[in-house]
Amino acid sequence: MTDTIDEQGAGAPAAAVPQYTVPQERLIVTAVPGPKSQELHERRRAVVSAGVGSALPVYIERANGAVLVDVDGNRFIDFGAGIGVTTVGHTESNVVAAAASQLQDVIHTLFTVTPYEEYVRVAELLAEHTPGDWAKKSVLVNSGAEAVENGVKIARKHTGRRGVAVLDHAYHGRTNLTMAMNYKANPYGWGFGPFAGDVYHAPGSYPYRDGLGGVEAAERTIDYLEKIVGADDLACLVVEPIQGEGGFMVPADGFLPTLQGWCTANGVVMIADEIQSGMARTGRYYASEHFGWEPDLVLSAKGIAGGLPLAAVTGRAEIMDASHPGGLGGTFGGNPVACAAAIAVFEAIERDGLLAEADRIGGTLTAGLERLKERYDVIGDIRGIGAMIAIEVVEPGTATTTKRPNAQAVSALVAYAAQHGLLLLNAGTWGNVLRFLPSLAVTDALIDDALQVLDDGLAALG
Ligand SMILES: *Cc1c(COP(=O)(O)O)cnc(C)c1O
Repeated sequence: MTDTIDEQGAGAPAAAVPQYTVPQERLIVTAVPGPKSQELHERRRAVVSAGVGSALPVYIERANGAVLVDVDGNRFIDFGAGIGVTTVGHTESNVVAAAASQLQDVIHTLFTVTPYEEYVRVAELLAEHTPGDWAKKSVLVNSGAEAVENGVKIARKHTGRRGVAVLDHAYHGRTNLTMAMNYKANPYGWGFGPFAGDVYHAPGSYPYRDGLGGVEAAERTIDYLEKIVGADDLACLVVEPIQGEGGFMVPADGFLPTLQGWCTANGVVMIADEIQSGMARTGRYYASEHFGWEPDLVLSAKGIAGGLPLAAVTGRAEIMDASHPGGLGGTFGGNPVACAAAIAVFEAIERDGLLAEADRIGGTLTAGLERLKERYDVIGDIRGIGAMIAIEVVEPGTATTTKRPNAQAVSALVAYAAQHGLLLLNAGTWGNVLRFLPSLAVTDALIDDALQVLDDGLAALG
């Protein structure tokens, strides 16, 4: 493959092509998982909680660009990037350099005790790149769920109201409040109650299954909120602009701005959970931009720091300032090393033109999937934007009638791909969605190779 350049000779032009430390091609040299992974898995079973799963129990030793190398020497094309975390690529050289340099200077001083510049710089970058042309402020935390929790806290303090509304098929995290905000009880909340109260689940927009236009779908949501909750008691409506775990549903045009209009008119804070869809993943900094939606608050996490743990709530200054001093924060929130990595991620997006790379990836992937859809009637729907693409898999022959979910085929495809050096993730309320979240470093050659594996996997379904 032409982008495997670690044997590149002397005198090659500097920085003309990305320098990969791992060959960007798949290679399977043992059974999957191999003997060393199996040995590690045995050790793990003795000491790691059974409540923590692993979709593909190959133990990873190195990762670079869009490729993972396991302890047995197998190389996998990574179409998960964690779950949309290493958006700029695994061990991206500028992220590594920025984090390493920060490790030498300051590893930790609690920002709420003695602050540091990197936190302020990340807040400046978020204010600049989140949607909406108004004064914005941020709070930095450690995880997506913590960002959701803080967004709700801020909205409640600002409005003096209690109610939290979310949409069907939503996923917002694994803490107590966010478990109550998820659509699916199993596995996220199953047996972990009691759950937080004042959380309401409203219908959303799922064009493949509800067939509604955006304004129609929004009117249905609004009717639900007015009748079941009442705007007067609603602090916030939290929405993923493209739903992640739920199955990459792209809402119909007009859905999000109509909801924002209703929220604004009724004093409800509308929060974009951009934890999976944000940070260049869809070819814009934030997916909300595709829909003409300017949310009151925006949540960032996953892709923000190249793989280091960091998350943020960013939004209208007057809402973000609602909390009394000392009301927000936490020991590790906005860690200096994670902040240095995030600054390098923002720089990489600009310098390497990564928004355009996401568009390229979306184009190549979607065209390839369209060709597969013509040949395999289990592919019911292809959807997504940029490097956030999915197929919804249905029972053969039902694509135009019942659209019956086919989780079994998705499991078989994920297993087939793993055996052939391609890491794929499932998604969807019914487990019948295959999602593609490659890093923006993935080449067209790797995408074509991955599509060939998928083609073979579909053929093997019989
Ligand atoms: C992953 C995710 C979360 C939770 O983030 P964690 O960092 O796992 O707590 C919340 N919302 C969305 C949309 C996500 O994809």
